[in-house]
Amino acid sequence: MNSNILQTPIDYLKGVGPSRATLLRAELGIHTYQDLINLFPNRYIDKTHYYKINELQRTTAEVQIVGKITHIKMVDQKRGKRLVAKFMDDTGDMELVWFRGHKWIKENLKLNTPYVIFGKTKYYNGYSMPHPEMELLTEHEKNLKISMQPVYPSTEKLSNKGISNRVISKMMQQLFAETQLKFYDTLSEEILSELKLISKREAVFHVHFPKNQEILAKAQYRLKFEELFYIQLQLIIKKLIRKQKIKGYPFTEVGTYFNTFYNDHLPFTLTNAQKRVIKEIRKDIGSSAQMNRLLQGDVGSGKTIVGFMAMLLAIDNGFQACLMAPTAILASQHYQGITELTKGLDIQVKLLMGSSKVKERRIIHEELENGTLHILIGTHALLEDKVKFKNLGLAIIDEQHRFGVAQRAKLWHKNKYPPHILVMTATPIPRTLAMSLYGDLDISVIDELPPGRKSIKTVHRYDSNRLKVFKFMAEEIAKGRQVYIVYPLIQESEAMDYKDLMDGYESIARSFPAPRYQISIVHGQMKPADKEYEMARFVKGETQIMVATTVIEVGVNVPNASVMIIESAERFGLSQLHQLRGRVGRGAEQSFCILMTGFKLSSDSKTRLETMVRTNDGFDIAEVDLKLRGPGDIMGTQQSGVLNLKIADMVRDNDILKTARYYAMKILKEDPSLALEKNHVLLYTYQQVAKHKNIWNYIS
Ligand code: ADP
Ligand code: MG
Repeated sequence: MNSNILQTPIDYLKGVGPSRATLLRAELGIHTYQDLINLFPNRYIDKTHYYKINELQRTTAEVQIVGKITHIKMVDQKRGKRLVAKFMDDTGDMELVWFRGHKWIKENLKLNTPYVIFGKTKYYNGYSMPHPEMELLTEHEKNLKISMQPVYPSTEKLSNKGISNRVISKMMQQLFAETQLKFYDTLSEEILSELKLISKREAVFHVHFPKNQEILAKAQYRLKFEELFYIQLQLIIKKLIRKQKIKGYPFTEVGTYFNTFYNDHLPFTLTNAQKRVIKEIRKDIGSSAQMNRLLQGDVGSGKTIVGFMAMLLAIDNGFQACLMAPTAILASQHYQGITELTKGLDIQVKLLMGSSKVKERRIIHEELENGTLHILIGTHALLEDKVKFKNLGLAIIDEQHRFGVAQRAKLWHKNKYPPHILVMTATPIPRTLAMSLYGDLDISVIDELPPGRKSIKTVHRYDSNRLKVFKFMAEEIAKGRQVYIVYPLIQESEAMDYKDLMDGYESIARSFPAPRYQISIVHGQMKPADKEYEMARFVKGETQIMVATTVIEVGVNVPNASVMIIESAERFGLSQLHQLRGRVGRGAEQSFCILMTGFKLSSDSKTRLETMVRTNDGFDIAEVDLKLRGPGDIMGTQQSGVLNLKIADMVRDNDILKTARYYAMKILKEDPSLALEKNHVLLYTYQQVAKHKNIWNYIS
């Protein structure tokens, strides 16, 4: 399928040569002809449009302008010199600037002769264009073959070394000439005709040399579909294989533990969403396939009890269960909560953390191995090799985004068959993103809050209004409520953030003096024991104010706390703000979230703050976050393989993604092993894709 010519090293392409080849490899990962073809333009510029100098705006990207150079001068600067030319058209003038290659430019530029210049403009006391691409107007008119100029991904190093966009375009032309479009199709006839897609060969050609917007759109659609289709195909095949091949322990029994708890100890009525999810889980773990389920539910939606009831099913069937949390504070809280829930059930629960004493650990190890311990709760410490279970049947991971895929995999090997896995996350992931990131997992959603919750009132206040905020705090405290004040702590600026926290603490202590007021403080530089002590005082209501860094972000549950004040709120991401806000609104009282900032705010910060004020809905917030940051940033680098898309865009190409997933499912349903003649091309391409992780190397 891959004609060999496409595997030719890029060095052999006419006009490339060893030094350019080295750069292309290092900067853009282009090793072969194929890789170059798969370097898709970021965007296209309308080459039939010429700007006038007086039309320039600070937000304009690349522009094309016709004009003349009237004079050139050398200007001294701190390091070296720069060459500056005055460039004019009939509406105004601007500067062209070069920091390198002065001699050649000076000798070759013609004064008072019409040029077409092309590049990005900068504004500083007028417009300038550094290192413009230039062409004499007469030449330009001769060369004007394409009206839409592709703009290729580039790096600073490439442009510094003279591999400009124009050079890449030339390479692309050369490549198409040499290969004569020997591209075979990678989608089946059936898909092509049902979706009315253009052929592979047309698509790659028109994506690089589009004649008009219409054909470009067709080419892009076809290539985006293909990219997303093979990702979905992989994910769904992975899921099917897991369902068929990976045995889990069937928990067929709904026994005494579950029933006793359900009938006699359930502290509240479950919401319908909780009931539905428990059913979904029961169905999964009742079959002999291993469960891999992601449980999404907004903060406070009651995921813990769902996890706990799944644990009871494991215990009913003679298995052990574990729950892993990302922080010691959260693990301790889970331990307390679950110990509370097991009251009267004769279930053994223990807590294992990095700070656990050697003697304690020894007992835990022993009880785990002889099976007297039913539930183990803890942090990463659970992953240590020394931690061995007699028969681990269910592993629950809370707040999944803190753990990597590798850690999830480690839990798998804690028993002969992998345990059933339930991942709980309070960071709602937009549906389309979830499809790609977790397309191989089953997903449950708790989309309903327990009854009686008042939605949290959120406001944005400037630092200059701090006294009013303090007054409000005092009023709430007088009503018996508790208050969180959270400071950012970012690794890069840790020392300064730490100082802000301490300054803040002092000012709060002055405004809220002892003994009338008691203040807790918790931050990352404290010993775990001290942190826990301070946390515990706040949980017990001995202190009214908790000053903290984001260590309290995840999971902490103090129903009496009704005010969350977030300092320098503009520095937090949306999902973090939402998580923090979720610490309040857990009791029956009206809760408040106050976002404090200075006056200077970027437009993204403004959007984040406005979104927080506008809505409490985690999925809504997640959608905005996805648009602001893009998928790569949100999910971190762990999943970058899935997100490292060449041409499709997870946010904008939402509909294509849905279509791709629909077709992948439809085809696999009819032909799970892609054995039918008509699907051969899919099987072949899939195998290449699966073998070599970089999809695009094998799709062409
Ligand atoms: P999260 O989903 O954020 O982990 P939790 O499981 O900690 O939420 O639950 C938040 C609070 O809501 C807890 O105090 C819990 O006891 C309570 N809760 C959970 N489910 C219900 C319910 N169905 N009715 C009333 N309260 C509930
Ligand atoms: Mg929780």
